[in-house]
Amino acid sequence: MAVDQAELSAFQWPTPTSAYVHVPFCRHRCGYCNFSVLADRDDLMESYLDAVDAELSALESPAVQTVFIGGGTPTHLPIDALDRLLQIVTNRLQLSDDFEWSVEANPEDITDEKLDCLVAHGINRISLGMQSFHDAKLAGLERGHSGAGGAAVIRQVAEVIRNVSIDLIFAAPGETATQWRDDLQMALSLPIQHLSTYALTFEKGTSFWSRRLRGELSAADESVEIDMYQAARQMTADAGLQQYEVSSFAKPAARCRHNLAYWDGLGWYAAGPGAARFVDGRREVNHRSTTTYLKRMRGGLSPVAESDAITVQQYARERAAFGVRQIDGVDLDRIHRETGIDIRGMCADMIQRSTDEQLLEEADGLIRLTQRGVLFADTVAGRFLD
Ligand code: SF4
Repeated sequence: MAVDQAELSAFQWPTPTSAYVHVPFCRHRCGYCNFSVLADRDDLMESYLDAVDAELSALESPAVQTVFIGGGTPTHLPIDALDRLLQIVTNRLQLSDDFEWSVEANPEDITDEKLDCLVAHGINRISLGMQSFHDAKLAGLERGHSGAGGAAVIRQVAEVIRNVSIDLIFAAPGETATQWRDDLQMALSLPIQHLSTYALTFEKGTSFWSRRLRGELSAADESVEIDMYQAARQMTADAGLQQYEVSSFAKPAARCRHNLAYWDGLGWYAAGPGAARFVDGRREVNHRSTTTYLKRMRGGLSPVAESDAITVQQYARERAAFGVRQIDGVDLDRIHRETGIDIRGMCADMIQRSTDEQLLEEADGLIRLTQRGVLFADTVAGRFLD
């Protein structure tokens, strides 16, 4: 497929409008978690804050529309450290008038004092790692809160930060379809604006991975997992939450703008151990080990562990792959206009094959997953990258 060289040379990478800050600290490492986290190293918090301040100050006050403080568990920071982190963000970034500022939190960390701190700094979206309302399932996942305690926290938070999102895990070991429906029913009866839901995965390097190898845990059957996913889609729709991405459901006007910026390839800054950024056509990831990250920052060295320049063609393909996971579909003509890369032409055979397989369809000029295609979203998205 011919690519217009004049258009390519004129290509301007989007200026990032989002920023991500990774907080690596947790009370305990949950058995299924393979994120860049540290438990029992709260002594590193002050040097972590110094490092994040240095990383963000190097950006020279960029204007951003969305900020996401994730982890790890940002709310595991004691109140003084949490206050300092949020002040660093405010000092180093220029938030637009209609900014979205999300903070991830675990229910057991929410106190009136921390909630006041979040509100005082302007946090207007909170993402709670609920995972379940069943005490036995929560214990199995090694979470630190109870079902009733988590529900109470959702109500408490929603009183002061209206935009509450929660995460739920399904297909946990031994979980039944009825238990999962109970979880959904409970979640949808609470004042949430957004729900993200993920099937449990067994990641190499986690204790769940080892326990599965030893036969102590087993993964749910694929058919059970699909039934649970379909239950989530049906019950959220009935409750007025629209599915807008494979794993994301939102009330009107409550779609996560930060995640949309990722999926639309708009570029984003990042700071903290293991944090990934996309700036000026370059994907970079900081060192995942917090101690290595801190050592490098203290020594005045770059925290970046991996750095790859991507071509405009890769960029266009990635936009198509992430775009198609959005339920409204992906506008390939817009990608063509903005990048000069004609994905529709380059991927014509694959689009036709996926359409014949009833995985993709065209509607209002967008290419989107069919109802069946949503179940095979990873496969279809991967085909845009081949
Ligand atoms: S609280 Fe979240 S980030 Fe921390 S270990 Fe558990 S799953 Fe991982």
